Amino acid sequence: MKYFYGFCILFLFVNFTANSQNYTLVVHGGAGSISNEMPAEMQQRYIETLDSALKIGAIILENGGTAIDAVEKVIVYFENCPLYNAGKGAVFTWDGKNELDASIMDGSNLMAGAVAGITRVKNPIKAARKVLEESPHVMLSGDGANAFASEKGLEMVDNTYFKTSKRYESFERQKSLYVKDKKGTVGCVVLDKQGNLAAGTSTGGMNLKRWGRIGDSPVIGAGTYADNNTCAVSCTGHGEYFIRLGVARDIAARMEYKQIPLENAATETIDKLTSIGGFGGIIAVDGKGNPVMKFNTTGMFRGYLKSDGTKFVGMLE
Ligand code: ASP
Repeated sequence: MKYFYGFCILFLFVNFTANSQNYTLVVHGGAGSISNEMPAEMQQRYIETLDSALKIGAIILENGGTAIDAVEKVIVYFENCPLYNAGKGAVFTWDGKNELDASIMDGSNLMAGAVAGITRVKNPIKAARKVLEESPHVMLSGDGANAFASEKGLEMVDNTYFKTSKRYESFERQKSLYVKDKKGTVGCVVLDKQGNLAAGTSTGGMNLKRWGRIGDSPVIGAGTYADNNTCAVSCTGHGEYFIRLGVARDIAARMEYKQIPLENAATETIDKLTSIGGFGGIIAVDGKGNPVMKFNTTGMFRGYLKSDGTKFVGMLE
């Protein structure tokens, strides 16, 4: 009996120390037709901002912060950076407005919050977190979601805040050619030192979207999912396909039901996405801190950082 208790204490200690030392942070800034033809200076800006996002998350996690806090803060950084199709710099709807979607999920308790089609909240990911923590609902949309965020004291802006001249010029060009471009959505998945997983995604959606179109990003199970038992996932790409496959939850379900590693589960799901003609990518992390970044496009802005110092930042295949 004495040995049994000794073993239990050792087991708990090993488990505790394993969890209390490791963290992993993975980010994406959208997938799509990204090529080396992009001006070097622009490539550099993407690399620098991805790197800054990783640093912001690492400081929180290094100090014992929670996965969900790291996800929110990293996504706020991306939303404030006009390079990305989230928050300031979001793409335009057919009518020349910005409508934003975001979601966040806590893998420790399966709580989730999302906002869709919002037009006046400076940081949509903060509104998603408020839905998670301060409402009995999972998803709020449109004017109701704007009103909820305002009631909760979040910073509200005029819709023109999101407009950047660069994005507006490409909107006018694309509208005349009817080109639908999607890249620039942002996402973050985290394993924290306590062993908890969280995921979040934020986007302006597809440019030239109409009729209140909502993509996968705010849909829990499609664009975002987190469960401590399996993994945390954030997606980017052609949202309609991601919704139809329930991509984020599909990856977690494959791990759970088939007892396969995250890497294999993600490969299977992306293969299925490809087989139905969907394009995009995912970032994910499992409970052991293994990062996975997969896409079937020519590129995806992405990066990861682990507590052991392993790091990657890139955009091409
Ligand atoms: N998935 C987003 C949407 O369909 C767009 C993107 O990720 O680029 O709204």
